[in-house]
Amino acid sequence: MAIDEVIFLGAGASAAEGAPVQKDLFSAFFRMENGDGRNPASTGRLHRFFKQFFGIDITGQQEGVVFPSFEETLGMLEIAMDRGESFRGYPATTHAPDVQTIREDLIFLIALVLNRTLMTSGGHHKTLVKRLVREGRITSTAFISLNYDILIDNALIELHPGFDLDYGVEFTNYIRECDWQIPRKDKSIALHKLHGSLNWLYCPTCVSLTLTPRQREAARLVEKSVTCLSCGMPTVPIITPPTYLKGMQNYFLHQIMRGAEKSLKDTQRIIFCGYSFPDADLLVRYLLKRAELNFDSRPEMIIVNEYEGKSAENRSIENQRYKRFFRDKSRVRYLNRTFSDFCTYGFG
Ligand SMILES: [Zn+2]
Repeated sequence: MAIDEVIFLGAGASAAEGAPVQKDLFSAFFRMENGDGRNPASTGRLHRFFKQFFGIDITGQQEGVVFPSFEETLGMLEIAMDRGESFRGYPATTHAPDVQTIREDLIFLIALVLNRTLMTSGGHHKTLVKRLVREGRITSTAFISLNYDILIDNALIELHPGFDLDYGVEFTNYIRECDWQIPRKDKSIALHKLHGSLNWLYCPTCVSLTLTPRQREAARLVEKSVTCLSCGMPTVPIITPPTYLKGMQNYFLHQIMRGAEKSLKDTQRIIFCGYSFPDADLLVRYLLKRAELNFDSRPEMIIVNEYEGKSAENRSIENQRYKRFFRDKSRVRYLNRTFSDFCTYGFG
């Protein structure tokens, strides 16, 4: 079905459900870890890593400690891997944790944090999806998510067997005997996850993607290493920091970008939810500029990013940031509306 509405989901949409924001991810993890006394093997490696890289002693007093952001940390490791370089103390030998191991530890860490914190989420994404179904617009709506969590995924999966979630890439589960099926064309709802997802397992050996097994009509995030359904080699969730463009060289993320472009092609409306449109997100800018210049539609841009305690100054800067970017300023509508209100009532 032709897409006439694209809903962009930024970090603010997940934060509205209780997900920790970027900068709080690590402190949330170590608070949690100290709380329940679990001590997986990776934790020791991470303690050492934070001490050596950022001078943070996880076992010590944590009040007032400022952690680096998840993205800057992951970004540095990605660059080292990309350049075939390393850091002192992180050699490419089997006796010491290398850059890749730490990278994987960090990815599983964020899955763990999101799994725990979103277990009791408020359900705004579900409310949104139900409203769109009620209004008969669910299959003419496409979602572009910048988040790694699976809040919107599970809200859409719950609509099965009436509708199928379509990520726009192929998974090994479709071929193997498994609990996921190829989305039916006339019943599919497009979800483009530009930065990847913590429930997709990427196999660098056979370059395939596997979806984590579905449990009672829900997807789940992966918290530890799983082997590839196709070749049996270890896989890792596929995610890439938004500001690190090289990560986009991944074959599947390329396909996802193409799919997102296609959804934007004829849309009448783009609704930005919980997204402040930061200057550093070049990939999103690139995608939107291409859509604006290459395609015929002149969509209306609606911004929904109100939250408690937001200052008038912040609102004004954000509004300007959107207006500055798009050619057709008159089509940018900045609303003082929260994500939760949008989910329940729409924007009208
Ligand atoms: Zn494989």
